[in-house]
Amino acid sequence: MSDALVHRAASGSRPEPAFGESRETPDVPVASNESISTCPDVADVVVASAVDSGTAAIDAGTPVDPPAPAVFSERDRRFMGLAQAAAEEARAAGEVPVGAVLVRGDEVISTGFNHPIGAHDPSAHAEMVALRAAAQAVENYRLPGCELYVTLEPCLMCAGAIMHARIARVVFGARDPKTGACGSVVDAFANPQLNHHTTVCGGVLEAECGAALKSFFAERRRASRAARAAARGEADPEAHSEAARTEPH
Ligand SMILES: [Zn+2]
Repeated sequence: MSDALVHRAASGSRPEPAFGESRETPDVPVASNESISTCPDVADVVVASAVDSGTAAIDAGTPVDPPAPAVFSERDRRFMGLAQAAAEEARAAGEVPVGAVLVRGDEVISTGFNHPIGAHDPSAHAEMVALRAAAQAVENYRLPGCELYVTLEPCLMCAGAIMHARIARVVFGARDPKTGACGSVVDAFANPQLNHHTTVCGGVLEAECGAALKSFFAERRRASRAARAAARGEADPEAHSEAARTEPH
């Protein structure tokens, strides 16, 4: 794979919002995002296959099949699974569940989870935590040949750090239409004046990564409503409605 190859994670139309708020203030409803992207490792194969079949179909006078959905490698899914586990550490700490894993080959060098609130540190995003830990581990601020897996599309801050660290490849799960810097809001990696090194791949375990964030925000909203109801001296409205749904008629 060429270092100069830059894969735009969000090709075509801009994605619908998957998350409504930043990692620090999760208060806005989360909607699912069904769009699918592909990784460079497999995208070329998928695209080539689609083109071939399309050409054949045109020649034969038959309709062209729709593009095939992305197929991500087992390796990408496995490392994204580790990033998801890191995200759960953020959830346990009461932070927006975003996790990251930094690997070189099949070696996990570091992990990180989002915790800017607890750390009183606006830079304590999962990617930054993993980058710092990896740089300490290898005693080098450059991390060439490494890949960063993160459950949510990196923001501009993290994209900048990823470039400075010379990360070879970034793989993210869910898209972030509020702060995503891999195509959702801006595409920092598509600018050759900024980036000459990093390949970006989006949408690996996208539904699962998005679901973790959706459930977190939903629980925060439920807890907020319950707190307001308690302040008014009312019963938990969610508990009441849940009981009404489950009681036999
Ligand atoms: Zn970030």
